[in-house]
Amino acid sequence: MTNATVSDHITGLLIDGAWAAPSNDQWLETTAPADGQVFGRIARAGAADVNRAVGSARRALQGNWGRLNAVERGRLLLRAAQIVQDRAEDLAQLEARDTGKPIAQARADIAACARYLEYYAGAADKVHGHTIPVQNGYFAATEHVPHGVTAHVIPWNYPAQMFPRSIGPALAMGNAVVMKPAEDACATPLELAAIMIEAGFPPGSLNMVTGLGSEAGAALSEHPDINFISFIGSSETGVAIQTAAAKNHIGCTLELGGKSAQIVFADADPALVVPTVVGAVTQHAGQTCSAGSRLLIERSAMDTLVPLIADAFSKVRVVMPDMEGQLGPLINPRQKDRVERFLNFADSSGLPLLAKGQMAADLSPQGNFVEPHMYGPVPRDHRLAHEEVFGPVLAVIPFEDEADAVALANSTEYGLVAGIWTRDSARALRVGRQMEVGQVFVNCYGAGGGIELPFGGMKKSGHGREKGWEALLEFAAVRTILIRHD
Ligand code: NAD
Repeated sequence: MTNATVSDHITGLLIDGAWAAPSNDQWLETTAPADGQVFGRIARAGAADVNRAVGSARRALQGNWGRLNAVERGRLLLRAAQIVQDRAEDLAQLEARDTGKPIAQARADIAACARYLEYYAGAADKVHGHTIPVQNGYFAATEHVPHGVTAHVIPWNYPAQMFPRSIGPALAMGNAVVMKPAEDACATPLELAAIMIEAGFPPGSLNMVTGLGSEAGAALSEHPDINFISFIGSSETGVAIQTAAAKNHIGCTLELGGKSAQIVFADADPALVVPTVVGAVTQHAGQTCSAGSRLLIERSAMDTLVPLIADAFSKVRVVMPDMEGQLGPLINPRQKDRVERFLNFADSSGLPLLAKGQMAADLSPQGNFVEPHMYGPVPRDHRLAHEEVFGPVLAVIPFEDEADAVALANSTEYGLVAGIWTRDSARALRVGRQMEVGQVFVNCYGAGGGIELPFGGMKKSGHGREKGWEALLEFAAVRTILIRHD
């Protein structure tokens, strides 16, 4: 088990470019999900601390940070990306300990973190306004201007990726940011914040307030002097965030939950389908907003494909973070409890169990481990067919034909991702364009150039786009300038 801890110099909140204790001197323990060990503490910020952080961001906008141009902002992001790459292994060890995920996944997350910073470094000076032809005697143009102080609330599942994904485009566009990482996984975001300061981000351009969602999170999203909110987390909290934004008449992006469908037609290539479908619901123990938790299979292929997928599913290994395997524990006992209640309900309602993953022999008894479960056929009105579990649980549901597949895929209140598996590219496009989701993957899932591609939801999965070019535009307002010259 990794012993990584947060650096000694990181104590408390990051405000005005310096680490400070919370004003009430209250702290929360940092617990490793894989063995229950307490390995540090984080500040439990209150409204007064949030107020200080927002004030610090406002001053930075009016001072050294606000005076930097886009080229200079890009250089700072690039320097931070370089430091992340240089310290990749230490950061991966910390991320694995704090989230419980296998070290291979944590390493991939840190590589993605550096790539986010690099992408937005390169993009900072390439967001152009345009000129607009109007009547004679006038010149018209637009420019993109930062919103001002932006608030960022992120979840615990991929903190090392969520940190740069949320603040990277905001800083590239010249906003001053205040981030509230999730109380269950703060270690890597705090370490990354220290790296940003080391890279040269001026005091106040990036502020960190740790603590509970109901305290620091609510105080930040309701603060009257913020100009935009970027939120990633549950659909329930998304309502609170959007309500807070509405009260201040500001905008927000919400990246929420999902119940994403993998639609497998009978002509699909099993060699592609089997490993990807299994990986898409077991990666980070299913604690992924885009987890492919519904497997919709054309009925004529049930007898051939389901046994292959069940066989691969039964070989998935639940491991400690320093071991080789597909998944680790759930983030905390509350999430474990929640997933186990789903499993108990599935069993008591008589759902056929198709496969179960394996638990490695030497798991810590204090870890929040749950065996992956694959059920099917799951009736369409069963809770497992439409509720988000946020755990390693796969629901197999047969469909009759293309129209049925489309209706079934669109039948939940979420709209994040759809995977389509077929050798018929015309059908893939036809079906894909009917999906009520933000992302469609054909013969792959979540693969290929993720950081460059816009990502976000429809329906209850949220609105606005993160990643790629579109994220930059979320963090800026358009200012139109009209000049009369004759
Ligand atoms: P959550 O929405 O409660 O927490 C996410 C973040 O929001 C955390 O930083 C939390 O402190 C903060 N927060 C909570 N209440 C807040 C409030 N009233 N105002 C402002 N900020 C607040 O999610 P959770 O309880 O940690 O996880 C539960 C569920 O969330 C999961 O089962 C899953 O459905 C969903 N989830 C989704 C994602 C995603 O990537 N979309 C990630 C994690 C969790």
